[in-house]
Amino acid sequence: MPIIPHPDFRRALTERLRYYHELGIYDFYRRETQGLESVETPVAADTGEPHPSFPLQPELREEMPARHSATVAAVAEENIFDVLTPKPEYGVADPKAALKLIREDLGDCTRCKLHKQGRKQIVFGVGNPRAELMFVGEGPGADEDAQGEPFVGRAGQLLNNMIKAMGLRREEVYIANVVKCRPPGNRTPERDECETCSPFLMRQIAVIRPKVVVALGAVAAKNLLAFNAPMAELRGRFYDFMPAGTRSSDPSWQGARLAVTYHPAFLLRDPRQKGEAWKDLQMVMKYLGLTVPSKRPEQL
Ligand code: SF4
Repeated sequence: MPIIPHPDFRRALTERLRYYHELGIYDFYRRETQGLESVETPVAADTGEPHPSFPLQPELREEMPARHSATVAAVAEENIFDVLTPKPEYGVADPKAALKLIREDLGDCTRCKLHKQGRKQIVFGVGNPRAELMFVGEGPGADEDAQGEPFVGRAGQLLNNMIKAMGLRREEVYIANVVKCRPPGNRTPERDECETCSPFLMRQIAVIRPKVVVALGAVAAKNLLAFNAPMAELRGRFYDFMPAGTRSSDPSWQGARLAVTYHPAFLLRDPRQKGEAWKDLQMVMKYLGLTVPSKRPEQL
């Protein structure tokens, strides 16, 4: 019978794994004699609580040092054992081949409830597998669901204009979403859906190794940064970003800078904010060494 670790133990283990990931340690081995699988948590018959005779190991209880970067996305508790499993793309140096392996691993995904809520197809991501710049949105809409490509509707047209205004072509960047299936009625993806799907996005980022990731809108920002704040507070600065629960095939890649700007769909609703979005893009352009026009291009 499979043994389900006690929640306290899982929580402590999650913290420990996160700590090791922040140190750049990804490979773990189980010791046969003291393996977790040989330890079953005794449970008190009356309360169902863990028996006091089963203390957590002191090293798992110790307090973890405070995180210096607030931008390391959380590993969902449910996914901690996924983290221990080597991913198919590990060790594959060619990002195009690595992305293909991630797509194959995703398969005809039924991992979250969005698979049965009317999606036509999975919208994986599109663009240059070696892109220096990556855009991450929230989830596919109707047009994207129909065409199997992110940002192809009206919002996609505006994103294309934003990319053009930066002096780039759509084919030069990579575009993906936090969730890969269309939420019904274009509702905001729910927390469990984001937590289930975003590890695939993290893996995409880890193989593409962009210099900059631009989070389009609050949902993308919240999921990438693993904290919640109003857009006004999130914008206007760079964050250090290392996709959690993953590792890059290039040990020299030290993560990306992450910037937050408005989602193009929001800019369509409130075009007065386009000037603010242009400031965000200018910041990214400067960092990437692109020529920054003195005036906001007309198409934006
Ligand atoms: S949204 Fe992501 S996790 Fe959910 S079914 Fe689609 S591909 Fe799978």
